[in-house]
Amino acid sequence: MTILVTGGAGYIGSHAVQRLLRDGHDVVAIDTLFRGHARAMHLLARAFPGRLTFIHADVADRALVEGILRARGIRDVLHFAAMAYVGESVEEPLRYYRNNTLASLALIEACDRAQVERLVFSSTAATYGEPDASRIPIREDCPQHPINPYGASKLAVERMLADWCASRARAGRPVAVACLRYFNVAGSDASGLLGEDHHPETHLVPLVLQAAVGVREAITIFGADYPTPDGTCVRDYIHVEDLVEAHIRVLGALRPGEWRAYNLGTGRGASVREVIDACRRATGREITERAGARRPGDPPELTADPGAIARDLGWKARVTSIEDMAASAWRWMLAHPRGYDDGAGGA
Ligand code: UDP
Repeated sequence: MTILVTGGAGYIGSHAVQRLLRDGHDVVAIDTLFRGHARAMHLLARAFPGRLTFIHADVADRALVEGILRARGIRDVLHFAAMAYVGESVEEPLRYYRNNTLASLALIEACDRAQVERLVFSSTAATYGEPDASRIPIREDCPQHPINPYGASKLAVERMLADWCASRARAGRPVAVACLRYFNVAGSDASGLLGEDHHPETHLVPLVLQAAVGVREAITIFGADYPTPDGTCVRDYIHVEDLVEAHIRVLGALRPGEWRAYNLGTGRGASVREVIDACRRATGREITERAGARRPGDPPELTADPGAIARDLGWKARVTSIEDMAASAWRWMLAHPRGYDDGAGGA
């Protein structure tokens, strides 16, 4: 079976491509390489000869995507392609609506025309905005009121998918959709082939590890006056391989006409300070921290209740300690201190 993976050269997308290839699927990966890595695609193509087709293109190109879907008879799509920085989305909201919302609309139209049967969409905890304390840990039925354009750009796609799914069911041509609301993804694959390498890097765990490896001087804590136990923001960190496993289970379980939404997290929150301490333990290095201002768009706490996917599909995060997540990311970072472009890992 061939599966289309959009954003397949990105951090999470590339880990998903690797898993699908390992499971014996053929994969067509499409990526603009705006923030994805050609090198990740080369490494995977070499590890799985003849099984990965990489297409350097934008999912917003509806005709091209429709052509690929038809030519390869693809029925399953994992849609990762997106811009995913909260702070950037506040600065440049229109880019987020264009690249996340409009591009997804084009992809959905291509899927509609080409008789795709299952689509799994990378949504986000940012769609929940700033939930009431009584709603934390967050269940899927928590009201979705995003407080930044990133979350809003993803919520709009969830709504399009729900309406598409309902209309196709009414028309007797059912399609199945899952919206997976990621909390904070960290770590890298156990084999050491793939890692997390964003330019610019804005995510906490890789930034803290960069401070540990010496690529940056210190980690700045964005706000220590939040209404949380130690004053820093609390997030629910999930290992990238657990996240990918959830996609595989969902894809296997989706039945025609279904629309499902699941939170993907461990169910345990960690503060920015706790993450920095876990990285100190994982690396054994000194890590200098600095106090900084709050980052616009950051809610104080986002912790998942991952009970729904546990009940429905028996999925649970296997890696629950931040230290273990950081240790897996650290192994890759030590081998690739400057990321994919450092030439490490073979030609
Ligand atoms: N954060 C921080 N310093 C940094 C980067 C992030 O204090 O240099 C905080 C950020 O404010 C948030 C948490 O770390 O509370 C996780 O941020 P990240 O960007 O990794 O993920 P997000 O929650 O935005 O998806």
